[in-house]
This record gives sequence, C-alpha cells and structure tokens, in this order.
Amino acid sequence: MANLDRRTFLTRAAHAVGGLAAAQLLGGVSVAAGRRRPNIVIIFADDLGYGDLGCFGHPTIRTPNLDRMAAGGAKLTQFYSAAPVCTPSRAALLTGRLPIRTGMCSSKRGVLFPDSAGGIQDSEILIPEALRGQGYATACIGKWHLGHLPQYLPTRHGFDSYFGIPYSNDMKPCPLMEGETVIEEPADQTTLTSRYTERALQFIREHRKRPFFLYFPHTFPHVPLHVSARFEGTSTRGLYGDVVEELDWSVGQVIDALHTEGLARETLVFFTSDNGPWLTQKLSGGSAGLLRGGKGSTWEGGMREPCLAYWPGTIPAGSVRQDLSSTLNLFPTCLTLARAPIPTDRTLDGYDLLPALTGKGPCARDTMFFYQGAQLWAVRKGPWKAHLTSQDAGAKAQQNDPPLLFNLDIDPSERFDVAADHPDVVADLLKAVEAHRMTLEAVPSQLEARIEA
Ligand code: MG
Repeated sequence: MANLDRRTFLTRAAHAVGGLAAAQLLGGVSVAAGRRRPNIVIIFADDLGYGDLGCFGHPTIRTPNLDRMAAGGAKLTQFYSAAPVCTPSRAALLTGRLPIRTGMCSSKRGVLFPDSAGGIQDSEILIPEALRGQGYATACIGKWHLGHLPQYLPTRHGFDSYFGIPYSNDMKPCPLMEGETVIEEPADQTTLTSRYTERALQFIREHRKRPFFLYFPHTFPHVPLHVSARFEGTSTRGLYGDVVEELDWSVGQVIDALHTEGLARETLVFFTSDNGPWLTQKLSGGSAGLLRGGKGSTWEGGMREPCLAYWPGTIPAGSVRQDLSSTLNLFPTCLTLARAPIPTDRTLDGYDLLPALTGKGPCARDTMFFYQGAQLWAVRKGPWKAHLTSQDAGAKAQQNDPPLLFNLDIDPSERFDVAADHPDVVADLLKAVEAHRMTLEAVPSQLEARIEA
C-alpha cells in the first residue's frame, strides 16, 4: 500500500512538473498538464513561389483553402527556407540545422540524385525522432530527398510509415514507395497528389486519439507537372495553375478532416515551400511575385517562401506576421509543443516560433544566412541583407567587395544597392558572418559520393 501511494505520488508529481515546464516553455500557449500534446502537420510544397497563392497576391491561381488557412490563422511574410534547392532545404527543416552543419549541401552537386550514395546521417536528430519519444505517431507522405538507400529512408529516421517518392519527380526511375518497398515504378504522377492526400486523411483518422506528427512534402509543383484528370484544364493559369489548385484542394481536405475529427483546435498546421519557383522552366515554373530571383538563387525569390500557420483557438485568425523566420524554426517549435527536450549537444539554428504565431511576442531570430551549396553568399540581419557573392540568371557569379546591401523593409525586390550610404551596416553584417563562421565545423558532404557502378 505504501509503495502504491508512493508510486501514485511520483506519477502525480511528474505530471505536475511536466505541466509546469510546459506552461513555461510554451510561451503563452495554454497546454494544461494532462491535456494531450498538440498534433503537428507540416505541408511542404516543392518549388512553389512567393507569388503563387491567392493570399500572397497571385491574380489568377485560385487557392481558396490556403486563403482559408490564412484567414483563420497566420500569414508569415518574411519566412525563409534554409536553402534554395530541395535536399539541403529538407534536411534543415527536419533537423533545425543549417545544411553546412549536417553535410547535406555541396557546391559540386546541389541535391541528391538516384546515383547518390549519401543521405541524412544517423547522428542527426530529426523532428519525428524527437516526437516519437514523446508518444507521437509519425508519418512521412510525399517526396523525401534525403537519401534513397535503405539506411537513409524515412522509416530509419523516426517515421513509423512512409508513402511517396524518394527524390525529385524529374529523376529516373521515380519509384513510388510504401515503407522501404517499391510498389510502382515509375510512379503514375497524375495520381500522386490525390493518393498522398488519401493517405494523409487515413493517417489522421487512424490517429485521432493519439498525438501525431504528419510530414507531408508534396511532389509538386516541381517540374514535370502532372495533375489528376479532375483538375486538368481548370485554371486560367494553365497547367502550373491546375497543379497548384490541386495542391490547394489537398490542403482543404486535410483541414476539413481535422475539423470533422474534432482535432482542429489541437493541431498546428503549417504550410510552406522548400525553395522558390523554377524560373528557367518558363511557363511551367511559378512566380516569386515581387521578389528577385527564384529557385537555386540566394536572392529573395530563391528562399523567401509563402508561409501559413493554422491552429484555431491558439493562433489568432487573420494575423499577418512580418517576423524574420525560417523552416529552421520548426524543429524547436515542434519539440517545444511536444514537450520534448531540446538537444544541447549540437548547434541548432532555429528559434521557437510560438510567441510569434500566437501574437505573444516577436520571433527571436534576427539573422539569416543564405548558402549557395556550401558557400555562404548572403546574410540578413534585421531589415538589411548583404550579398557577398551574387548571381543573376544566365550570368556568372560575382564577388561583391563591398557587398551589395539592400534594406528589405523598404526594398523587398533588392533593386537598390545602398552599401555606399551605410558602411556601418555593412561592417556589422560582416561581423555577423565572421561570428557565424566561428560556429562551423568541417563535415563531409553527403551529396558528392556516388554509388559504385
Ligand atoms: Mg524544390
């Protein structure tokens, strides 16, 4: 009896302490002790531009469901991916670390290919690994692109299940995988968005009674564009518009399912893109809106992404946040929500987004680094962005000494270099670069090794 009492006490004490820590950690989000940890859904588009959604100003692409997310949640207007191409961007989202720290970038090969021998390392902690330790069910549905060999697949890095293609849809043989098994090759790309969506809804329904983490990286609008028959020819923007409108439908299905299952108020839904629009694809590529450059570029159009966060009752409806923020922030944000300990044995590049999302305070991030492969090309601090190296489409990369300087609050299109007027700002940004470089350790690139023929 005495033992039982003691055990009961310890259990209660643990709950009380857990609740207290959670209340402190969650920056104003009231997650009471005993209440279930929130579900987290991250929907990640591929090569979607800053200007491609109705709620971000596209004049003809219709995105009523994403617009609904914006109206019922928060729109983040200064949100960055951590790299201008797929592989490093995804690695950064899932680890909360710049790709230069994880070996998931290279100046020789921008991304992983079907002949690549590398991938995400076991030493990295991914969001699903941390959340699984807190009792979360985890699923990855869609494009992986962090290594297609068995040891790199989602199922080896914290995901209970995986359904999707292991790399980009323009790479052959483009297999569709269930877990670690190829179930279709090549994948019928016209049905990918609808099949992914079906799987996502199934996962949500099956886990309605348990906290879950759904990482939902879509294959599109990466080129080659494919769309289901239902959406073909329906957008005035042509095939690219059809594809984005089908993605919008998919987002609507997820939001509707959360409401139908009674989970909307206990689920954070996040929507963004891995990098900017693939401009060289012309009509098949998207739009960066008023931003300069696109995919593959460290100009704003390559890395500033449309971003929406939806959590009725927690994120104020219709809020617009101008905080400097990034996919790098998702790692600490998700771990904080799941009450998982933040790793202290490694350098993390993210900050908890909850204060900003809930309107309780600014995001702590004030600096953003822009890498081209393994080279640091630009830095942003506050409104100021300096380009140490820059490159325009079709031109050679150029070293800038002094760096080009833009005030993004005033000049988001990066049109007017004001370095000559602000030598003190340039010096301050160069100091930030030096301080950042001091935190880097050499790690071998995972993107250069190839499978022996
Ligand atoms: Mg991409």
